[in-house]
Amino acid sequence: MVVETGKFDSLGASYETGSNAGLLLAIARSAEDLTSGKGWPDGVHDLLESLGRVTGVSRVWIFQTISLTDTHITQNYTFEWASAPKHIQIGMPMFSMFTSLIDRPEYRDMIESRKRGEWQKVITCHTEPGWLRDNQEVQKIKSMLTIPVMVEDEWWGTLGFDDCEREYDWTDVEIALLKTAGYLISNAVLRDRLSAKRKQFDIMKRLTESSTWAYDFRTGQIWCSSELIHSVPTPTDNFRMSVREGLRQVHPDDRKALLGAIRDFIAKKKDVFRHDVRLLTDCGGLRWVEMIGNIRRSENGKPEQFAGIAVDIRARKQEEERLREEAVTDPLTGVMNRRMFWRKLQKQIDHSMDVGEPFAVLLLDIDCFKGLNDKFGHVVGDQALRNFTKICYRAMRKQDLLARLGGDEFGVLLPGVDAELARDIGERLRRYVVGTPYFFESNQVLMSTSVGLAVHDGQLTTPDRIIERADIALYTAKKAGRNCLISAEEANCMVSFDADKVPDKSGIV
Ligand code: GH3
Ligand code: MG
Repeated sequence: MVVETGKFDSLGASYETGSNAGLLLAIARSAEDLTSGKGWPDGVHDLLESLGRVTGVSRVWIFQTISLTDTHITQNYTFEWASAPKHIQIGMPMFSMFTSLIDRPEYRDMIESRKRGEWQKVITCHTEPGWLRDNQEVQKIKSMLTIPVMVEDEWWGTLGFDDCEREYDWTDVEIALLKTAGYLISNAVLRDRLSAKRKQFDIMKRLTESSTWAYDFRTGQIWCSSELIHSVPTPTDNFRMSVREGLRQVHPDDRKALLGAIRDFIAKKKDVFRHDVRLLTDCGGLRWVEMIGNIRRSENGKPEQFAGIAVDIRARKQEEERLREEAVTDPLTGVMNRRMFWRKLQKQIDHSMDVGEPFAVLLLDIDCFKGLNDKFGHVVGDQALRNFTKICYRAMRKQDLLARLGGDEFGVLLPGVDAELARDIGERLRRYVVGTPYFFESNQVLMSTSVGLAVHDGQLTTPDRIIERADIALYTAKKAGRNCLISAEEANCMVSFDADKVPDKSGIV
């Protein structure tokens, strides 16, 4: 058995004969040209020529409907093939873009019928005298067939066959075949539209790193472009899922907020929906996106589609996270900064006042740190500061909080401790610092720290007030020779003791 293969355009000798088989072959050939070859608009020219030659008419044309109102229609005479120069109309004043008044009932009926997708055939000498007959006679048309071209269920234009030589009565089969040619044209229009839209979308997508999504209120289904959740190619780009499946793609912690935001958007009838959400990808990863969308409603205001784009905001979220971190942490050591320490302190004060839990604050200042900087330089000083925080963490409990308050000064919040335990922890800290030498290159650096301790006395207080007490204690520890811990109470006594000596200083004693 021999398998015969060949191109469509070389099929069948009856191509030129005007038979139905010839018509079919002309359509088949044009179909290939329109879908995979020349496409829009060159393929359409070829289609008209093929159809004109095979049907033996004088002219094949396409009118595109540009706009249509109750009273006016604007059409563009976009394509024409003529069997002889005398039949050419394109370019004549009436055969370019033109607007006509829909004033006659016959004309209105004709337009309504085309809008419904119906074909029309006319043999001029059989029509009643009047507007239509006059029109046909002016153009010397003896018979005519029109096939409406429908694109996305709307009347896009009309494919017409004028015969100026024969009073030709088109058969049902011919009309059906030519309707298929109409579908080819609508397909080409659609492909052209889609390719323009795809170009637009590709540019937008590249610029905004976005994907698309839609929820159909009638079917209750969600559609999204597959790359939104798939990192590998999928069998279909038309990815559909139920709302339940859709929600499963959202991070569990974000589902409630997302549903709440959607409800709020619908209830308040806002123009644009915007919400940040984390999506789970098929590789188990997470992706931050901003969902932006709005609702398309029917003419009677019923919501039909909730659709929009999902913009990749991973970079923005990372930056936000970095700024948030920076706002509460000390960049050199990575421990909490002064602002955050004050916030934590206020929280602890509120909590202690509520439940009567004791707490204490330690203020630490490295002894003679300037000297270390001067001797070894700032870079080594910085490393020593980082090393200091590590030593502190070893001496602290899990629940204690360390903060750098500035320079070489640190604060430690000790929740749930009484004076005795606070002193134990403070002393341990001091001992660890002085007992842990810091090595760099061939040098060994020994640091010590002075510690001021303030224990919350159950009185109403503020972060400033309690730090002030710890600061007086720290100052006293420095004065007492450094590398020691002094509590606020001890500092008070020592100040009173100093005060006793004031007359001495003034020379009275
Ligand atoms: P004292 O025992 O009285 O605390 O003496 P000190 O030399 O430590 O004096 P003080 O605490 O007043 O000075 C802190 C020094 O810490 C001043 C400055 O040179 C240094 N310093 C402040 N911030 C930084 C920093 O970020 N890096 C480094 N390397 N040094 C710092
Ligand atoms: Mg110091």
